[in-house]
Amino acid sequence: MTDQGLLLVFDQTVSRAGVDGWIRHLESAGAPTQAYRLGSSLVLPVSDVDVLDTAGPDLPAPTRQAPRVVGASLWSRELRPAGTRVTLGPTTIGDGSVAVIAGPCAVETPEQMMTTAAAVAEHGAVGLRGGVFKPRTWPYSFQGLKWDGLDMLVQARERTGLPFVTEVAEPEHVKRLAEVVDGFQIGARNMQNFALLSAVGQSGLPVVLKRGFGCTVEETLAAGEYLLHEGNDQVVLCERGIRTFEPSARFTLDVTAVAVWKQRTHLPVMADPSHSGGRPELVEPLSLAAVGAGADALLIDVHVQPELALCDGNQALRPPQFAGLMARLASAAAGLGRQLSRADSNGARASTTGERA
Ligand code: PEP
Ligand code: MN
Repeated sequence: MTDQGLLLVFDQTVSRAGVDGWIRHLESAGAPTQAYRLGSSLVLPVSDVDVLDTAGPDLPAPTRQAPRVVGASLWSRELRPAGTRVTLGPTTIGDGSVAVIAGPCAVETPEQMMTTAAAVAEHGAVGLRGGVFKPRTWPYSFQGLKWDGLDMLVQARERTGLPFVTEVAEPEHVKRLAEVVDGFQIGARNMQNFALLSAVGQSGLPVVLKRGFGCTVEETLAAGEYLLHEGNDQVVLCERGIRTFEPSARFTLDVTAVAVWKQRTHLPVMADPSHSGGRPELVEPLSLAAVGAGADALLIDVHVQPELALCDGNQALRPPQFAGLMARLASAAAGLGRQLSRADSNGARASTTGERA
């Protein structure tokens, strides 16, 4: 990433006319210029910083300037030093607390989804997970209930008051899913499906963007930029383990990526110790490591009967194990001057209808 230059950031107190004045000035110096939206701010990339010297006094001062890394680098922490808060229904990710989202890998039956959701809600999760579209390595593996499973997630939300994320695998599915989901998950295998990223970005809904297991920290930021570029800043980056030479776990949780993202980007960071470790007994140590590295959220596989699971049962926690994890996470978070995000403080349980605002 070698581009030079600056990003000018204008918050909503700066008039659109003032920003348009800046665009005309930058273009008069021969550089085609586009303004990008980051939440309520506008960002102008400037490649030739000399043009700033000739800006007239009538142009409003930018709220902030940041080094330009590449393109508009809307992910850059310097654009939003306080960090981004992602609003998943009644749950906030990125407010300093540790948000735990839990549930089965795949939605299988109404009873399985409901009982698992009730258990994770009871033990303090602030969001639900469950895949209905399951991109699988083998064509013979369970591919998910697809549209038939969606209502089971909706019912689980109604019962618990917790929002849910679910994986979207096709750009054509985004609009229909957006009518019911609280947030999307983009899977590791789809992190560089650029048409999907653009479609999900346009939905404006929260997105958990999983890092591809062969992709770098920077490539993940670039994938996040596709979402931001569409004007969607509700993006959570998720480290879910990468493929290394080490075969002792399903994948290697790259804790360094968590720390690097926390330093480089304003986007909240999540870790998935279930898919990375691939075994129940690794979930707790990897969760603690991720929180120690600064993760804002964890994504945990929980199943009421892992031995019957149609997908990833061998990594799921049973509800009592999940309860133990939550207790130890609470003490670890306290030791770090943080706390577990609570459904009550988020207002999640205040909603029993499950309707989105
Ligand atoms: C999942 O969360 O169920 C999943 C398929 O994860 P990943 O895309 O990280 O493999
Ligand atoms: Mn899975």
